[in-house]
Amino acid sequence: MPVTTEVLGDGGDAIRVLSGDCTVVADGDRREERRGHVTVVIKPDNTVLVHDADGYQPVAWLTRAASVSCSRSEDGRERQGARTIVGSRIAGTDPSAIEDDGAAFTVDARDGDERLRVLAHTEDGYASYPATRAGHPVGECPDCEGTLVRSGRAVSCIGCAERYGLPDGATVREERCSCGLPRLRVERGAPLDVCLDRSCEPLLDAVQKRFDREWDCPDCGEDLRVLQRGGILLGCDAFPDCEGSFGMPTGTVVDDCECGLPIFELASGRRCLDSACDRQE
Ligand SMILES: [Zn+2]
Ligand SMILES: [Zn+2]
Ligand SMILES: [Zn+2]
Ligand SMILES: [Zn+2]
Repeated sequence: MPVTTEVLGDGGDAIRVLSGDCTVVADGDRREERRGHVTVVIKPDNTVLVHDADGYQPVAWLTRAASVSCSRSEDGRERQGARTIVGSRIAGTDPSAIEDDGAAFTVDARDGDERLRVLAHTEDGYASYPATRAGHPVGECPDCEGTLVRSGRAVSCIGCAERYGLPDGATVREERCSCGLPRLRVERGAPLDVCLDRSCEPLLDAVQKRFDREWDCPDCGEDLRVLQRGGILLGCDAFPDCEGSFGMPTGTVVDDCECGLPIFELASGRRCLDSACDRQE
């Protein structure tokens, strides 16, 4: 009987779906065994969900398992009903031993002390589907015309999997760059618009253009320069003689502080560029 065994979790991007009359054994704090016609969903991040006929919640699951292996006889469909495993061959035996001779398919997911095993007595169906993250649509990919979606701190294309990280507090605009990608609005002292692809229009360039030498160092009076040191910061031009430097906050300049530096309006409220300034209101 030809059997294919796959150890999953190698960065694949498919959701696998297996259905059948299965014995499902979850080992962890306690052992729980079930049997029924269920559907097993295996996600690319090694999350395994076992769904039965009821409710939204899986009857058994393991989230982002350390390892998942999946064996399936190649002629699983033909064997449906032709050869069933009598009773549960997992019940009452050593929990580490899973007898899968003749099983239509097995799934074995492990994560530390947690283990989830599924043994199919008959297979009702098997499929593998392409899967991406689902995010809010924000535009179209100029390379492949796929839809760009935003999910958390990134925009990715569901067609070609191109991915762009987003700076803090960025919003994606409808306006497009000449390269075809949407532009972003980012607040760094003022609202600045830059291309989603930061190698196309670096945020540093936009901040430099607007704020380089805009303010004087409160320690020595030299110009503050816009620099990239990890994040974007304003550093004294007299470095290394003067070490005055201030991280560029995510917000806009709304006022001047008595110390000569700008006051920013941030999500958390107003403050001087120098967060330790004692002359701010
Ligand atoms: Zn694309
Ligand atoms: Zn661009
Ligand atoms: Zn200085
Ligand atoms: Zn100040």
